[in-house]
This record gives sequence, C-alpha cells and structure tokens, in this order.
Amino acid sequence: MKKQKTVALIAHDGKKHDIVNWALQHKDVLQEYKLCGTGTTAKLISEATGLQVKGYLSGPLGGDLQIGAKMAEKAIDMVVFFWDPLSAQPHDPDVKALLRIAVVYDIPIATNRATANLMLSI
Ligand code: PGA
Repeated sequence: MKKQKTVALIAHDGKKHDIVNWALQHKDVLQEYKLCGTGTTAKLISEATGLQVKGYLSGPLGGDLQIGAKMAEKAIDMVVFFWDPLSAQPHDPDVKALLRIAVVYDIPIATNRATANLMLSI
C-alpha cells in the first residue's frame, strides 16, 4: 500500500484568506493527504473545510521551525507556503530557514497559488 503523503500548509496573515479559499477549492484532492500546518493557518483551514489539519505552534512562535524540522526528518512531503511579500515578518529568519531546508532536502514548496495548483495536479 502506498504511504499517504503529508502536506504542510502555512500562510502569513495577509495571505490567510487566499490559502483558505485555495484549500476550499481543492478540498477533494487535499483529503487524500495527511495535512498539517502552522497554528492559525491549520485552524482556519480546518474550520473552513472540515478537513483534519494537525496544528503546530503559530509561525511567529516557532511553528515554521517545527515544520522545517519535520521536513528535515522527511516527515513532510510537500509544502504550500503563501508568504506575504508586502509586509515584514517578525520571524523572518524562521521563514528563511524553512525555505532553505526545502531546498536542502528537495521538498516541493509552493509559494503562490499557481504553483500550488500545479503541485496538486501532478
Ligand atoms: P500562523 O503562522 O499560521 O500561526 O499564523 C504562519 C506564519 O506566520 O508563519
């Protein structure tokens, strides 16, 4: 039996609306995956879609780092990360660490809707 893949979902505040809409649009595909995410994003997506989304800490409180650590352990197979290019983040070093670890371990990471759509379609 094929192992169920895990997708991590993260969005900065300015992009939460977008990721919730995206998740609603792709609910049928997303339910085939194990889902996790940073605290607030996970909660909002779970409430809107009814899907189970394991929540880590909120991003600014270490959630990005927790997800980065899971990526390093190969426990996360894909990431959808809608970061906000228009506002400064207090946890910018953590955001950078997450993006870096995705490259180190060659884990697909979609940082906008078009790429996230593409990632789910293949
Ligand atoms: P949040 O974290 O989902 O807990 O808001 C996201 C982030 O800012 O990295």
